[in-house]
Amino acid sequence: MTDRLYYHDSFLYDFDAEVRDVIDGPRPALVLDRSAFYPSSGGQVFDTGAITAGDAKLRITEVADLEDGRVVHYFEAEDASPHSFKPGTRVHGLIDPTRRRDHMQQHSGQHVLSAAFVRLFDLHTVSFHMADDYCSIDLDTPTLTKEQVEKAEHLANEIILENRPVDIRFVTRDEAGKLGLRKVPVAERDELRIIDIKDWDLSACGGTHVNQTGQIGCILLRKTEKVRQGWRVEFVAGQRAVSTARRDYAALTETAALFSAHIYDASQQARKSLDEIRSLRKQREQSLEELAAAQAAALLAETPETNGRKIVVRTFSDRELNFIKLLAQKLTRLSTNAIALLATTSPQPSLVFAQSPSGQSGQAFDMGALLKETMATLGGRGGGSKDMAQGGVATADGIDAALAAVAAKLA
Ligand SMILES: [Zn+2]
Repeated sequence: MTDRLYYHDSFLYDFDAEVRDVIDGPRPALVLDRSAFYPSSGGQVFDTGAITAGDAKLRITEVADLEDGRVVHYFEAEDASPHSFKPGTRVHGLIDPTRRRDHMQQHSGQHVLSAAFVRLFDLHTVSFHMADDYCSIDLDTPTLTKEQVEKAEHLANEIILENRPVDIRFVTRDEAGKLGLRKVPVAERDELRIIDIKDWDLSACGGTHVNQTGQIGCILLRKTEKVRQGWRVEFVAGQRAVSTARRDYAALTETAALFSAHIYDASQQARKSLDEIRSLRKQREQSLEELAAAQAAALLAETPETNGRKIVVRTFSDRELNFIKLLAQKLTRLSTNAIALLATTSPQPSLVFAQSPSGQSGQAFDMGALLKETMATLGGRGGGSKDMAQGGVATADGIDAALAAVAAKLA
C-alpha cells in the first residue's frame, strides 16, 4: 500500500519517495512507497504535477487508486526514461499547487455547504461531483426552492467568513458511530479519517481540505435542477467563484451592449425585442398574404384562357418557397380553372405546381406526378398531392425550360 502523505497534510506540495514499481503499457505509470498526489476518489479529481529523479522528469497527467491500496501515477509516455526510474530509485514529487488549492476550495466548500443544507432544512447530500469548471451536490429532496438555495449559500459563506479550523482526525468505526457523523462511508476499513469543521460538520472523507474555512474564500450557488435522486445544486468556490462570476459578467455585459442597456436591464430589453420580433413577424405574414393575393389577381388578369384553362408560369429570383406556395394557393383559389407552375431561383431553388381544386375544373391533372417527372429531369426531390406539389433542386439551371415543357404539355 502507498503511504498517503496528503492524509495528514493537504498543503504538502512536494515530497521525497522511492520507486516501487514501473507499470509498462499504453499508459505507463509509477508506483511509489509514499505519495502526496491525490488519486481520484469520493467525487474529488486527481492531482497533476511531476516526478523527478536527478535531471529526468516525468509529467504526471493522472493519478488513480488501485484496489490493492496502491496509488498509480500515470505519466506522458514520451517522457519515459526507464533507466532513471527503476524500482529503488529515489525520486522527488511536485504537485501542481494551483490545481490542488482549487480542489481543496471546492471540496471543503462542499462540506460547508452540505452541512448548511442539513442544518437549515434537514436536506442530505447523496452525491458530490467535481467537474473542470463547476461542482455539484445532489440533495435527497422532492422539492427545492430559490429561497432555500439562497439561505444555504448565505449561511455557508458565514461559516467561511468565521474562519473556523478544519481538523483531520483518525478514529475507529465504533468511535465514529458515537460522534454523529454527517456521512459515514460504506468501506470495510476500520480506521476512519474524519474531517472536522469546528462545531459545524463532521464527515468521514479521504479528500484534501483547507486548514481554516477562510481559505475556501467564498461559495457561489448557481444552477439547480431536478434529477432522478432529488435536486442537483451546482456551485463554485474560491478562485473558481471569482472566475465564474467574471465570465458571467462578460457574457451579460456583451448582451447588455447589444441593447445599449445597463446589465440589469438586459433581460427586460431582450423580452421587449422578442415581443417586437413576434409582432413584426405577424405583420410580415399579413403583408405577404396581401401581396400574394394582389399578385395572383394581376397574373390571372394578364393570362389568356386556353382550352378552358389559365396556365400561369412564373419564375421568381428572390422569393422564399413559402411565398410561391402562398401565391400558388391564391391563384388556384381565386380562379376555378387555374394551373400555377411557379419557381424561385433563390435563396433555395424550388418549384411549386398547383391547380384549382380538382372537383371544380372538371378536367384535372396530377400535380404530384407532374412534379415528380420534372424533378427527375432536373435532379431534385419533391412530391405532393393531386392539386399541390413542391420540390427543391440543387441549382436554378434548367428551371425555366422545365416549366415551359410542363406548360406545353398541359395547354
Ligand atoms: Zn471531503
